[in-house]
Amino acid sequence: MGYFTTEMICSNCGEKYPLDDNLRSCLRCNGPLLLDNKLEEISGKVTKNTFSNRIRGVWRYLELLPKIDSKKIVSLGEGGTALLNCERLARNLGLRRLLVKDETTNPTGSFLDRGMTIDVSKANEIGIKSLRCSSASGNFSASASAYASRAGFSCTIHLSKEIISKLNLGKLYQIIAYGGNLVIGEKPTNYDVLNSEKSYVLSSSNPYFAEGEKTTAYEICEQLQWQTPDRIIVPMGHGEHISMIWRGIKELKALGLIQNQNVTMTGVQIEGYASLVDQLQREKTEKISAGKIKTIATDLVMKNPTHGDLAIRSIKESKGKGVKVNDSEIFYSLSLLARTEGIFAEPAAASTIAGLKKLIDLGQIDKDEEIVCIVTGAGLKDPSTARKFIKKVKTVNRIISQIESKQITTRLGRTKFEILKIISSKETYGYEVWRNLKQILGIDFDISSVYQHLSELENAGLIRRTKIESVLGKPRRCYYSLTDRGMTTIKSAK
Ligand SMILES: [Zn+2]
Repeated sequence: MGYFTTEMICSNCGEKYPLDDNLRSCLRCNGPLLLDNKLEEISGKVTKNTFSNRIRGVWRYLELLPKIDSKKIVSLGEGGTALLNCERLARNLGLRRLLVKDETTNPTGSFLDRGMTIDVSKANEIGIKSLRCSSASGNFSASASAYASRAGFSCTIHLSKEIISKLNLGKLYQIIAYGGNLVIGEKPTNYDVLNSEKSYVLSSSNPYFAEGEKTTAYEICEQLQWQTPDRIIVPMGHGEHISMIWRGIKELKALGLIQNQNVTMTGVQIEGYASLVDQLQREKTEKISAGKIKTIATDLVMKNPTHGDLAIRSIKESKGKGVKVNDSEIFYSLSLLARTEGIFAEPAAASTIAGLKKLIDLGQIDKDEEIVCIVTGAGLKDPSTARKFIKKVKTVNRIISQIESKQITTRLGRTKFEILKIISSKETYGYEVWRNLKQILGIDFDISSVYQHLSELENAGLIRRTKIESVLGKPRRCYYSLTDRGMTTIKSAK
């Protein structure tokens, strides 16, 4: 079972629409659509006991989710995550009670699995076996690929330039491992293009997806013996998670499962990408630059948060606030959380601890509050941030260099290795490398292949460009030298 609905409602202007899988946003104001679930109709039919004997996870709260044929449910055991009492971290921050909702333990390591199970189940019920996502974070694409595989469906992921620039390696590895089809290029401009190919378009702004994210609120309240905490702190990317947590809280109150809804919703954004927090603080909104993304919390970089207005309204209704943090604050908090509590979060996820610390420092939090920080995703998704920790630890650095250079030397072909050796003896340019190589290898070959090797070695971080020389009448010369990594590679091969 599950609740029955025939209508969607625009969360911004209230316009109602009949259920339509092709309609993803309001035709009047472009606002996100939510399912009009009329939960009051089941009021009195669900009690705390309704859920208590079921296994933990998103589908435990069946009655509060949209009706989907139970045979069509696609699940990897998402949700049901721990609410950890973090005494050491609380002491460190001078708080009475701090809890972490540890979403890193979801099937693909991110809270998005909560929405994905519902959206993919819906696709399964409709009978569309081809899934697509076009505007997505790395975590979203990883989750989509996993659930598609679980259902036996195909999943095509459109990677725009913007998404590629913020894709963490761990997430890319996940997508590949789950068998997602990566298509590089701008996303299709409208859903009709996708739907004409009979694909189901997955998106965090889908009304079914959003319903799954409410379950974070249900779980927190149930885990606190059907009480609300004083404050819930949530990272804001598109703003749908904080909005849906607040919606979930209000639903529990309306159903009489909790006595009050006195919980202040607190949203965190990154400096430079904090349009929602700026609006809350009535500051002039910084223009988000189109260029290179300058934060480690890449999944929180959203130019136009789909649920921005709803997030702001949720925060205002709950008398909460917004806070923005910077990378060094996130980095510090990520480390603190891992070391004091054994929870290894990715940067976007650790932003809630950073936001909490900032509000404490600003004197804007009562230290007697019971606070829940949502930690939305796992640390290994972003290995490049993880390895910044170990920069200062010599032994670890040596171990990593050895592991990597061993991998690199076994992967490098003879030609590339000879090129490295040539460059290690002196800073040089492509044409010189080509001449030397011909001598060493004793074969004639095309110079363009040398440039190809050089560009691959550069991408692998083994060599770098040092200068470009313009000589009149001749092609420009680009000089290369070895990086530290290139040097280690040569040494370990000897
Ligand atoms: Zn609207």
